[in-house]
Amino acid sequence: MTPSETAELLGFAAAFDRRTVGKADVLAWQTILGDIDYTAARAAVTAHYGRETRWIMPADIRQHVLTQRADTAADIQGPGLPAAIPDADPDDVPAYLAAVKEQRTRAADGELKRRPVAELLAGVGHDIPRPETAAVRRPGPLGVACPTCHAPIGRPCRMHSGRERAPHEAREAAVHGREHDPAAEEQRRKNASRHLTEETNA
Ligand SMILES: [Zn+2]
Repeated sequence: MTPSETAELLGFAAAFDRRTVGKADVLAWQTILGDIDYTAARAAVTAHYGRETRWIMPADIRQHVLTQRADTAADIQGPGLPAAIPDADPDDVPAYLAAVKEQRTRAADGELKRRPVAELLAGVGHDIPRPETAAVRRPGPLGVACPTCHAPIGRPCRMHSGRERAPHEAREAAVHGREHDPAAEEQRRKNASRHLTEETNA
């Protein structure tokens, strides 16, 4: 802000705290607040006196404005937010960084669109709709829940120890639309081992 704006700002503060303002005050404040935007500084004074009765000091204004800028930038550049893609070639590192910096400055200035905070908050606590598991039927035994170990659709069968194992027979049977028949399973196992024995002996 310019020295005349600083004088105006001091006058504005004086309206709240009845301080007397002289040239030395303006000079002192100007030293601290020269690079601070007048409108932002004025908002800081308003915020200060909405909160406390202590006389405001230049450091309060500076701190308030810088915090405000950081908050505004955070709202726009925060995680999960599609920051505007900087208009620079990402391979040109210095140019890209300059573009990002420029974007952040504009964000801090409040020029970029703010996050729809209310919209985001409205979603808090609401269940995220899950796709119907039945709708995503998978081929193979994982396409059905296991009747033996109760592994849900898409999850592997587990042993009692919790280790993954090949799908249970009943699950295989379920996916093929067969009834699980322990006698038939025993028979298949016997057949398989006999086959193996014959092959070995051949
Ligand atoms: Zn199982």
